[in-house]
Amino acid sequence: MVRICIVCRVSSKDNIENVSFHLFTKNEIKRHKWCDALGISRATPNQSVCSIHFSPGSYNFSNSRKMLKPFAVPSLCLKKKRIYNTCRIGDFTSFDFGTPKRSSKNLIVGKNIVQNLRRKKQKFKSKK
Ligand SMILES: [Zn+2]
Repeated sequence: MVRICIVCRVSSKDNIENVSFHLFTKNEIKRHKWCDALGISRATPNQSVCSIHFSPGSYNFSNSRKMLKPFAVPSLCLKKKRIYNTCRIGDFTSFDFGTPKRSSKNLIVGKNIVQNLRRKKQKFKSKK
């Protein structure tokens, strides 16, 4: 099964070395802690976060296997680069709409992108 990190959209198909994927647990308290740390309102147990977001101290090493500690919470690389101007709406992730504040900000950015594209299209048409 392909896993995609809900924070940075890295996929297990990308085969990045040393990146593993951790599923949200069914344990509600722990899942809430992860959601809080990630700034999202909710997640389902089949969504995952990649190991990029866990500090080295979050792991136990046993028999050369990296095991996430039971109470580890994602803490790294959580702030995405802000998008002010882009031509690719696909740059948005669900993280950008995780809170009402973030959503409204990014909706404005999205609207601007669409307006810019329309303007470009009109320019293109008028040149013909
Ligand atoms: Zn990630």
